[in-house]
Amino acid sequence: MELYRFFASRRAVAITALVLIGVMLISANIVAGRFFASRLDLTSEHLYTLSPGTRNTLAKIDEPITLRFYYSTRLGDEVPSYGVYAQRVREMLDQYVAKAHGRLRLEVYNPQPFSDVEDRAVAFGLKGVPLDAQGEQVYFGLAATNSTDDQQVIAFFAPDRERFLEYDLTKLVHALAVPKKTVVGLITTLPLEPDAPLAEPACPHPGCAAMYRRIGTTPCLRVCPACLAGTVQDRRIQTSTYDREKCHSRAQTYGIGSFQKGLLQIVNEDDPARRRTMIYSDFFTKSIQSLGFFRDSIAQCFECMRVCPVGRKYRKLQ
Ligand code: SF4
Ligand code: SF4
Repeated sequence: MELYRFFASRRAVAITALVLIGVMLISANIVAGRFFASRLDLTSEHLYTLSPGTRNTLAKIDEPITLRFYYSTRLGDEVPSYGVYAQRVREMLDQYVAKAHGRLRLEVYNPQPFSDVEDRAVAFGLKGVPLDAQGEQVYFGLAATNSTDDQQVIAFFAPDRERFLEYDLTKLVHALAVPKKTVVGLITTLPLEPDAPLAEPACPHPGCAAMYRRIGTTPCLRVCPACLAGTVQDRRIQTSTYDREKCHSRAQTYGIGSFQKGLLQIVNEDDPARRRTMIYSDFFTKSIQSLGFFRDSIAQCFECMRVCPVGRKYRKLQ
C-alpha cells in the first residue's frame, strides 16, 4: 500500500518525468552523434562548410593520408589571436577527417622544447618561432604524409593566409592524394633558358640547420654517428667527414664474402630441389650481382638518406 501511495503521488510523477527527459536527451545525443556528424554552420561566411572542390578531393583519396598538426599551446597562451586561429585550423581539420571516409588520419602534437616531438617537427621542415628572450621555439604547422612517404608541409599557419586556409589544406591533401604528375618530353630547336642554379644549397635543409642550432646535430649525423660527422654554422656546412670504411662494413651485406658463403652452402646441399631453390634465392642472386655491378661502388644502408628531408616528396619505393 505504501508503495502504491508513493507511485500515485505527484512527487513520484515528477521524478519519473525527469528521468524520462534525461533518457530522451541522452538518446538524442547518441542518435545525433551517430547520424548527424556534421555541424550546423551558422557563420555568415560559412567558415565550417567545406566547398564542393574540397569534398571532391577528399572523395578521391585512395591511400591513407596522415595529417600531423603541430601546435604549441604556449603560443595561444601568449598571443590569444593565435589560439583562436589554431582552434579554427583544428576544427577545419576535423571536418576534413569527418568527410574523408577514414582515409585521413589526424594526429595532434604539442611540441615541448628539446623533445622528440619537436625534433620530428623540425625534421619535417616546420618553422619554429622564438617566443621569448630565452629563445624557446613554438610551432603552428602541419606535416602530412601518404602511404608512399610523399610529404607536404605547411611550415607555419601565417595569420595573413587565414582567408586561404581551406585552399591551402585542400592543395596539400590533393598533392598527396594524386602524387603522380604527368611527365611531358619536348624536343625543340627553340633556345630555352636552363634552370638557374639553386639560390640556397640543398644541404643543410633549413630544418636541419635549425636542429643543429638547437641540439648540435642533424638527422643524418644523429642516425649514423659512427660514419658521419660535421659542423654547421650560419646555415652553411663548415666541416663534413664521411668514413667510407665504417660505412662499408655496416652497410655492405652482399659481396665476395656472401658469395663464398652462399656457394659453399649450395655445393654442400644434397637435395637437388633445395639446391635449385638456393641458387635462385634472393640472397645468392644479390651476392652475384654485387660482384658484377656493385664491386666498386659504395654500399649504402640508406638510413642517412631515409632521414634526410631534402627531396623527400620525390622519393618513393619503386
Ligand atoms: S649508408 Fe648507412 S652506414 Fe653508411 S653513412 Fe649512411 S647510415 Fe651510415
Ligand atoms: S639530413 Fe640531409 S639536408 Fe640535413 S644535414 Fe644531413 S644530408 Fe644535409
